[in-house]
Amino acid sequence: MNNLYTELKAEFPNLEFNREVLLANYTTVKIGGPAEVFCETKTSQEFIDLVIYAIKNNIPLTILGWGANTLISDDGIRGLVIKNSGQNIKILKDGGFSNDDTTTNDSNKKPHSDQSLIQPRWHSDKDKGSFKYEFSDLDYDESESPTVVVEIDSGVSLPYAINSLIGQGITGLQWYSRIPATLGGAIYNNIHGGTHFISEVIESVTIIDEKGNLKMISKSELEAGYDVSRFHNTNEIIVSAQLKLYLGDKEKAKTVVQEWAVRKAVQPQKSLGCIFQNISNGQKENLKLPTTSVGYIVEHILNKKNFQIGNAKVSDKHAAFIENIGQATAKDYLEIIKIIIKETKIKTGITLKPEIFFLGFKKRDLEGIIT
Ligand SMILES: Cc1cc2nc3c(=O)[nH]c(=O)nc-3n(C[C@H](O)[C@H](O)[C@H](O)COP(=O)(O)OP(=O)(O)OC[C@H]3O[C@@H](n4cnc5c(N)ncnc54)[C@H](O)[C@@H]3O)c2cc1C
Repeated sequence: MNNLYTELKAEFPNLEFNREVLLANYTTVKIGGPAEVFCETKTSQEFIDLVIYAIKNNIPLTILGWGANTLISDDGIRGLVIKNSGQNIKILKDGGFSNDDTTTNDSNKKPHSDQSLIQPRWHSDKDKGSFKYEFSDLDYDESESPTVVVEIDSGVSLPYAINSLIGQGITGLQWYSRIPATLGGAIYNNIHGGTHFISEVIESVTIIDEKGNLKMISKSELEAGYDVSRFHNTNEIIVSAQLKLYLGDKEKAKTVVQEWAVRKAVQPQKSLGCIFQNISNGQKENLKLPTTSVGYIVEHILNKKNFQIGNAKVSDKHAAFIENIGQATAKDYLEIIKIIIKETKIKTGITLKPEIFFLGFKKRDLEGIIT
């Protein structure tokens, strides 16, 4: 392992590798120790070649997208960490899926088809001192618009893809405005924006499987649900995806983007988004809570808004977020998560499930968090 850096440099002379790179700089929450060897790939081909090499040579491999949902250990990550960056967006065709195409099937006309599986978030209203970001008032149906297939590399930033596509008259991603993510991270976690989930528009995903083979899987194989996809249970790597988008109303989509951006701007940015998955509807009913949002429990049942350990703090803007208000460590952050889980169990009987990912930790660090 000592020679990993030398080996990779020799094998890929055109890529830049660095040793002991501080990963805090590559996450939104600005927490995380060093990567043993770090490389930022800027094209899909660089990414594919390096991932396949790592898999075939049993090199421990971690992929980072935008780093917006990932808590990295203070000890960092051993092996190779690839920061997946890219810009490639290819508009393939509008044939085959358009509404006057007689082969169009029902599922093509139901962009909300995944919705029944998954309950969108609800947040307490202004009277309770919190804010909403369900934004259903901004929602509209564009499934009658002509469609277009677009291929996007997994390392492309979602905000870039949204703006660039709307600029070309292509809509369908406006609901995810201001979500920090690469397309790969977005698919990995099946991100949600208001009442929408990204899996609605995914047609197929090109992956590298656990043996290092490049292959394509279809939408139906994604196992997409609320904050989950098949990638949570495999070591497959997402390379790119084909999305079925719309030649929709560009101006309307722009308005949604702008309005979402304004409303989401109140969320603490030096964070990892919501830390916990919503509780179930059944749990909500049993406890007679007004919402499935864990933010409500943290704020109104645990009274933990503003609760702080070191420089990690439960946000006063949104109690489902934990912010880094200075030089917080992963240890501080984990401690708050553990306390919230423990107190929620005692006070409500509910075992909370984190919706963020933990990289570089030992099993014992995560005791009480991951069951
Ligand atoms: C302020 C803020 C607001 C947010 N708002 C929302 C919101 O409204 N809706 C929502 O759903 N989420 C939201 N999030 C959470 C986050 O943006 C999403 O979960 C997003 O999908 C993370 O993407 P990423 O590229 O940053 O993934 P990362 O954090 O970099 O990675 C997450 C996981 O995916 C894996 N991964 C990343 N890329 C690949 C790949 N190509 N192949 C295989 N595995 C990969 C990583 O190894 C890691 O395990 C928010 C976060 C913040 C900080």
